Amino acid sequence: MPRRRRVPRRWPRGLVELGPGVFAYLSGSGEPGMANAGLVTSDEGVLLVDSLLPAFGRALRRAVRRASRAPVRYVVNTHYHIDHMAGNGGFPRATVIAHAQCRREALEIGSDMEMWARRLPRFADDLRALQPRPPSLTYEDRMVLYLGGREVHLLHLGRAHTRGDTLVYLPQEKVLFAGDVVCVHVVSGPPDAHVTGWLRVLDRLGGLDVEMVVPGHGPVADRKAISEMRELLSLLRREARKAYREGLPPAEAARRLRLGGYFGAWAGQERIPVYMERIYMELRGEL
Ligand SMILES: [Zn+2]
Repeated sequence: MPRRRRVPRRWPRGLVELGPGVFAYLSGSGEPGMANAGLVTSDEGVLLVDSLLPAFGRALRRAVRRASRAPVRYVVNTHYHIDHMAGNGGFPRATVIAHAQCRREALEIGSDMEMWARRLPRFADDLRALQPRPPSLTYEDRMVLYLGGREVHLLHLGRAHTRGDTLVYLPQEKVLFAGDVVCVHVVSGPPDAHVTGWLRVLDRLGGLDVEMVVPGHGPVADRKAISEMRELLSLLRREARKAYREGLPPAEAARRLRLGGYFGAWAGQERIPVYMERIYMELRGEL
């Protein structure tokens, strides 16, 4: 019998070493704006995956120094959402890398700090004062960095959580920094989601040799996190399609959907109505 899945009450937080020179920096919370970062260290410099909100900047820089004496050479933004890239300015000597579409989204949508302040009221003052620093180096499908003898693959597998998601994959270590394409015990923010594209990306991810997943939000997990994310999104899509065919509005579809059980214990349930709206938009051919 499969082991019953459950969501633990407390999640690990702070710097967690996953292997020699490979770290997760975990927020330990499913609250909006509380994202994770990743670190790949070497004598030649450090690569940081996501730079978090300014509120966590000092602690993040301290964690980086604890992990390595080398300077941060690269910051990779997994996508344009502000909780993943607001801290870019805290690493002024690093090159900020992202998918080309992520840079576009950062400039076109993501530079509206008033919008982010409204979405993340707890961090509103910081966000209103922020001078955003967009990525300065972009790629289209894949980029490989060689850092102190280690390969770091930046992969864009299609439209999913946003149009410009990057997955950071370490093939030797079999570690995946997934950004919000894979979240664990947290329903990630849906305003840019293309659920069908997202499911395709998760299928492609399933073909990668991954042993450890550092999600954009939530605790570190093994590769099962990829199939769980798939399970949740397919469930949402199935229910949305049913309600759409019955002519119900998306809010009603969300009300009718009782996640319950394991997925019902994930943080961020209030985001489900927006998922329903996004799936309806897909069904109407608007995405
Ligand atoms: Zn996000």
